[in-house]
Amino acid sequence: MADYDYDVLIIGSGPGGYVAAIRAAQLGLKTACVESRETLGGTCLNVGCIPSKALLHGSEFFEEAHDGTLAKFGVKLGSVELDLPALQGEKALAVKELTGGIAFLFKKNKVTWIKGRAAFKDAHTVTVGDQTITAKNIVIATGSSVTPLPGVAVDNDAGVIVDSTGGLALDRVPEHMVVIGGGVIGLELGSVWRRLGARVTVVEFLDQLLPGMDGEVRKESAKLFKKQGMELRLSTKVTGATVSGGKATLTLEPSAGGAAETLEADCVLVSIGRRPNTEGLNLEAIGLAPNKRGQIETDHDFRTTIDGVWAIGDVIPGPMLAHKAEDEGIAVAENIAGLTGIVNHAVIPSVVYTMPEIAGVGLTEEAAREAGDIKVGKFPMMANSRAKTNRETDGFVKVIADAKTDKVLGVWIIASVAGTMIAEAALGMEFGATSEDIAYTCHAHPTHAEALKEAAMAVNGKPIHI
Ligand code: FAD
Ligand code: NAD
Repeated sequence: MADYDYDVLIIGSGPGGYVAAIRAAQLGLKTACVESRETLGGTCLNVGCIPSKALLHGSEFFEEAHDGTLAKFGVKLGSVELDLPALQGEKALAVKELTGGIAFLFKKNKVTWIKGRAAFKDAHTVTVGDQTITAKNIVIATGSSVTPLPGVAVDNDAGVIVDSTGGLALDRVPEHMVVIGGGVIGLELGSVWRRLGARVTVVEFLDQLLPGMDGEVRKESAKLFKKQGMELRLSTKVTGATVSGGKATLTLEPSAGGAAETLEADCVLVSIGRRPNTEGLNLEAIGLAPNKRGQIETDHDFRTTIDGVWAIGDVIPGPMLAHKAEDEGIAVAENIAGLTGIVNHAVIPSVVYTMPEIAGVGLTEEAAREAGDIKVGKFPMMANSRAKTNRETDGFVKVIADAKTDKVLGVWIIASVAGTMIAEAALGMEFGATSEDIAYTCHAHPTHAEALKEAAMAVNGKPIHI
């Protein structure tokens, strides 16, 4: 048998790659992980989930202090001022601690961290700078990068037209920020800068925000963001941009075609999606071609068509989410070790961390209706005692169940803590729960989670509190 440097070599240390590396090492495999960034943790820890949540958290405090929410609860403050360098500093600290945490976990689990950019030489060999490394199994976990918008050139250093990485690092609060793309990044970062004082306009190509989410949730979200002061330009596309004297002038057109207009902004955030990272991997050397969307296709076990080469995370089809990448990381390591690693792609929750949060798992009402007969139960947060007490009554919970079997097919939530509440729905669905199972599960009072129980009770028309 051939002699390899490692049993497993992972390319990329994002939530997919670092989790795969740790699990492979836990299973006794000699493991290395190549990362081209200076720090471990990939997009998520360096320029994604973690820094964005730090800014979301801090900007919520600022808004609550500023808009009288704290005063209403008896917390009297003098004048409220924003210290943006302090907020950015806290964000940087969280990133440093968490990326450092992965380095610690690599050491603890004896995963070798190889610094540099990997490219294939053959199916069991990569080059990293002037090193050549061989492995019995190679996992591609190279993640994704921002999709560019033709005619709208991003320059994060100049800070006028930025992508999410630049949008997380601004050293000033823009007067007018135009967000191109009303998806997850646009709404999260748009919320941050709106709370900190910017006027925010979201330009979205489609006729609703948040593609892929339940229709009713998309409509209600638009209402809430408008109520919060965001201007929404739906069914509109940006066709070009010029920058002069620290200001951008955008050209906008109706998506369906029509008269063009211009819009000025001192900051433009381009957030129209992300695309898989396969460039520079020299996939040609192993005969592996990405699909039309640039993704690497795998089978259910995360094997590519090339023996010994596996792929996980944002670089393969499916939602681009950190927890999906992590679960695939565990599964691929277990499959490489000869165990059975499985990810149930039908039950992957997604959360938008705005205020209120927006979360869903399973089928949308539209998709479920198309697939068969369904029953739907809804419960407004307005009728949930904890939400009422906390004065966070926006939103609702919706449970979609099969009309015959009562099995839960999807759950959609808009609520201040929807991201936490959705975990219960995912667990229930993973165990094949019916709406009755959730309705007859005792939920602690007073919690937002009771709204899920009530929505489940509403599936059969019997909620208590409305
Ligand atoms: P990545 O995290 O992208 O990691 C891939 C790594 O591979 C990178 O570090 C890259 O440098 C490295 N790499 C690439 N090519 C090579 C090479 N040839 N050699 C060596 N190294 C290489 N998801 C959520 O679930 N929740 C959130 O709240 C959330 N917030 C986000 C906020 C923002 C602003 C962004 C941009 C994304 C967010 N995401 C969120 C998405 C999440 O970050 C990704 O889904 C996740 O990081 C994907 O993990 P991954 O391991 O597949 O790839
Ligand atoms: P997205 O796919 O969520 O949204 C992009 C939006 O841009 C869509 O609504 C799309 O219709 C619109 N769009 C596309 N082209 C346009 C154009 N020319 N003009 C106007 N609008 C246009 O993408 P994103 O917000 O960039 O996020 C990228 C990925 O990162 C997502 O897949 C998401 O899963 C992940 N992410 C997740 C989280 C989270 O889980 N909380 C947070 C941030 C990012």
